Amino acid sequence: MLKDSFFAIFFPSSKIIVNKYAIIKKIAKLIEINYNKKTNFTKESDNMNDTICAISTNTGNNGAISIVRISGPEAIAITSKIFTNLKFATAESHTIHYGYIKWKEEPVDEVLVMKMLAPKTYTTEDIVEINCHGGMISTQKILEILILNGARIAEPGEFTKRAFLNGRINLLEAEAVSDMIEAKTDHARSLAMNGISGKITKLIQNLREEIVNILTNIEVNIDYPEYEDELVITHENILPRIKNITKKLEKIIEESQNGKIIKEGINIAFIGRPNVGKSSLLNAFLEEEKAIVTDVSGTTRDIVEGSISLNGILVNLIDTAGIRDTEDIVEKIGVQKSKEMLETADIIILVLNYNEPLQKEDYELLEIINSKPHIIFLNKNDLPKKINCDKILSNAVLGNTIELTGLDKLKDEIKNRFHLNEFETKDFTYLSNIRQLTLAKQALQNLKSVEVQININTPIDLLEMDLKTAWNQLGLIIGESYEEELVDNLFQKFCLGK
Ligand code: GDP
Repeated sequence: MLKDSFFAIFFPSSKIIVNKYAIIKKIAKLIEINYNKKTNFTKESDNMNDTICAISTNTGNNGAISIVRISGPEAIAITSKIFTNLKFATAESHTIHYGYIKWKEEPVDEVLVMKMLAPKTYTTEDIVEINCHGGMISTQKILEILILNGARIAEPGEFTKRAFLNGRINLLEAEAVSDMIEAKTDHARSLAMNGISGKITKLIQNLREEIVNILTNIEVNIDYPEYEDELVITHENILPRIKNITKKLEKIIEESQNGKIIKEGINIAFIGRPNVGKSSLLNAFLEEEKAIVTDVSGTTRDIVEGSISLNGILVNLIDTAGIRDTEDIVEKIGVQKSKEMLETADIIILVLNYNEPLQKEDYELLEIINSKPHIIFLNKNDLPKKINCDKILSNAVLGNTIELTGLDKLKDEIKNRFHLNEFETKDFTYLSNIRQLTLAKQALQNLKSVEVQININTPIDLLEMDLKTAWNQLGLIIGESYEEELVDNLFQKFCLGK
């Protein structure tokens, strides 16, 4: 039985009829699969036996309802002690119960309590959710009473961490839960949903399965040359198989650049010498007075930020303080920050004044943006033309912030540069963070290395190392193997109660 299930995992479509178990053992060793991979988190070391509790709804404002969530072996017992509804303790799973939370026989709040027994719960443990009135005092009081009765306050992300450690969701799906909470646009929500629903996991799992099939083939060839049923791996027939995997992974990586845009948005830095109209342009974009506009040079001393949505994508606008020599200490900090912003911006909008000849500082800025993605906006074209460079005129977007002309053209230019129009029809099945993307790129590098080795006729058995590494790296994306520290860091980024 056990053998068969191992077999199903590692030989999903294989027709091998040899001593399956021997081969599986060998391959499992080869790819260093740790069947008990999750036992490095013992229940004791990770306090998994504790019953944890937290306020799961937003703690910022008073809402109509707050939810206090409890998970762990004592969830039902603790709740039963403080809940007036006596049927609760023995009630069936996934039922809702009305009553009062009490403290020393005094009612504290009128509540609805949801009882969910393991394993069909968010954490796979017994879970209780207390729906109480939204005031912070009553909610905190209920939390306090739970703690006094033996529950422990949960760490940020601990419920989701338990869902992961108990094997209900993988790492990629856990990250998607966090993405869902953080989502600022509808596209970001779609991206997160595809993560939560396992769509992205499936893509990665398919690639891993293809790699394991190749590894299996190689191993059987080496260890059981007498079995003629098995395909004999040659450089000629392995290359297209590797190329096929490489191509699919390349596509995932390429498309996943969109994932970054969907999740984090596009950062646009406005630069230009003082008084050309950067803040006015930013305000025009934001359609509100966010940056201070005056005609005194250097008014915008710090970085001003705002966000707009273009085709459902978040666009972060950063008005910089200008890049120039200054003795003013506050302005100096602003200038330094501006330089940093230019480094991290996805695109720079250089604002020039249509109503003035180009100046030394303009030329310096043109030099700075030359090697970076940029758009030039020639502002103040409501005034007479005095700019003296036709080359710039032909490459720039022309407009002004008084009559608000040129803004739509500028937005269109941004949409074109980032192909934002295409986002409407995309399916958002992407990797969504640097951790996932870095691992995918590393796996790709190893697969490319296998291709190179095949092309120089390296013996087939020597390809196993890189294939195995690629397989492992893809596994790290979904958390098939992981380091304790990584998991701790990752879940600490979650909000409390999730
Ligand atoms: P910044 O220092 O580059 O941020 O420039 P501001 O946005 O503070 O603008 C400097 C001055 O130029 C202000 O008096 C604005 O009202 C004026 N200004 C900005 N844009 C335009 C424009 O398109 N046309 C005209 N005529 N004046 C503008």
